[in-house]
Formats: sequence, structure tokens, C-alpha cells
Amino acid sequence: MPTGFFTHDLCHSYQQGPDSPESPERIDAIEDRMLAMGLSRVVTVLPSAPASLEDVLRAHDKSYVQELEQTSREAQRTGEKQISEDTFINELSFEAALKSAGAAIEAVRQVCAGTIRNAFACVRPPGHHAGRNFAHGFCLINSVACAALHALDVLGLKRVAIVDFDVHRADGTEDIIKGDERIALFSLYQETAFPFGLQPAQASNIINAPMPEGSDGTDVLRVVNDIWIPKLLSFKPELILVSAGFDAHRDEKQALFKLTEFDYSFMTIEVMRVARAVCGGRLVSILEGGYDIRSLARSAVAHITTLTRSA
Ligand SMILES: [Zn+2]
Repeated sequence: MPTGFFTHDLCHSYQQGPDSPESPERIDAIEDRMLAMGLSRVVTVLPSAPASLEDVLRAHDKSYVQELEQTSREAQRTGEKQISEDTFINELSFEAALKSAGAAIEAVRQVCAGTIRNAFACVRPPGHHAGRNFAHGFCLINSVACAALHALDVLGLKRVAIVDFDVHRADGTEDIIKGDERIALFSLYQETAFPFGLQPAQASNIINAPMPEGSDGTDVLRVVNDIWIPKLLSFKPELILVSAGFDAHRDEKQALFKLTEFDYSFMTIEVMRVARAVCGGRLVSILEGGYDIRSLARSAVAHITTLTRSA
């Protein structure tokens, strides 16, 4: 069965804000490298629709979503509005965030329907810093959380795991899923990077691995093998979602990890191995961070290439 590839038109045109590293060039570079490597012909490109309000409201408060929509609409007249140090809302923001979440949800639907083996949602804006009622870190709507809750509440799955290897802590995902025992979140990140000043997670369904600056592939794979895999095997998810940020790469300016493309491939192989063991290989990966354009493209392509390979 093929690997599905989901994206949307606004990935290529929506601008986050002045000089933001979260730019259309990120998606352009990934797709360009996919083309160069022949990967575009290997994946199955599938359409998606914007997330429905119902899907978004499983993860976010109604008042928050209404404010997001209104601020985005008003930006047509008043110009973009800055809502955190790094995050702006303009006239395309709400629609782009809905389309990103919608692509993740459609990927989940298709994988669970068995039409594709696994999938990559190549989308922006990212989502894992968006909480029930807060937006920052370039994130407005939490795509991975919307996708997990859709799988549980609409498709009837009983357990979903989220694996997050973005170099930044998934504070938004934590906020949404904490205490929901149907979801287990496995997250490794640089403990000194954004978002700052957070307390350790209290909920038992959040398995965090804060790591020091300078951590490399060996350190990360130790977490995957010693913590993630045994716990994933005992949790027995019916679907694994990946919050795939590629900003732990050694070339990345946003953080201080030292991963390479090889490490992303290896990590992907390990997560796929667990997916095969517990849920028939059902895995949906969703793009989060990664802002050094060249290492992002190389790492994402290493990840997607691995997804397309069978056992
Ligand atoms: Zn990140």
C-alpha cells in the first residue's frame, strides 16, 4: 500500500509575518527536494478539505476559535495583528490553520480506512504549540490534537499515541490532551529552548524527555529505544501520530541539538517498527518545525522516504 502525501494551497502563499522563519519556502524546499529525488512519484498525493468547526472544537475552546476567526477577518481591514512574540494573525491565518488541521485529519481517515499504509501531512502553519485557548510559536490550531481526537471520537479508535520529536516542547498538545487516557504523548525536546518557564507535566499520559543542549542522534535514539518503544508496546495504540519537527538538526539556528538526516531516518524506522507491531503499521506524520530550509528539506525527505519503504 502506498504512502499518502497531503498538503494544501495556502502552504505556498500564506505568510506568517515580517521576516518569519515559518515561511512558504519551507514547503517549497521539501517539495522541490522530493521532486529531485524522485519521491514525488512514489507517494500518493491526495486532496483534503479544511477542518470542520466540529473537529477544531474537540481540541480548542469555542471562544478561542471565534477570536481567531474574527481577528483573521478583521486583518483584511486593519492589517496583521501580533498575538505573541513570534506569531502574527493576518487575513489568511485562520484558513491556513484550518487547512493544515484538515490535511492531518484526512490523512488519519485514509490510513484508518486502509486506503493508504501511512501518510505525511506536509503542512504549515505548524500546530503543536497551540493549546486549548492559546497560540504562540507560529501555531494557531493544533493539527495533531485535532487528528487524534477525530480518530477517537469519530472513527471509534480506543487509543492513539502521539510521538513528537520536534526540538521544542509540545506545550500546546500537552495542554489539550492532558488527562485524556485514550491518548499517550511521547515527546523529546531541548529543555532550554522555547517555550520557556514551563513546569514539568503532571498528567500520567504525557511522557516527556527534556534533554540538554548538544544532544545528538545517539542520545535521542536512546530515548526512543529505552523509553518510547517499551511504553508504546505496552500502551498498544491503534494509530501512531508523529509531530514531525526537523529543527533538532545540527544546522538549525532555532535550537542546539545535533541530529542529522540519518538520525531522522533511523527514528522513523523505529517508530514504524512499533506501528507494525501494535497497529498494522498505521502511522500519520504531520510537519511541525524546521526552519533551516536546506536541512529541513533533506531531513523531511529522509523521513518521507523511510515511510515509503515497506518492512
Ligand atoms: Zn520546533
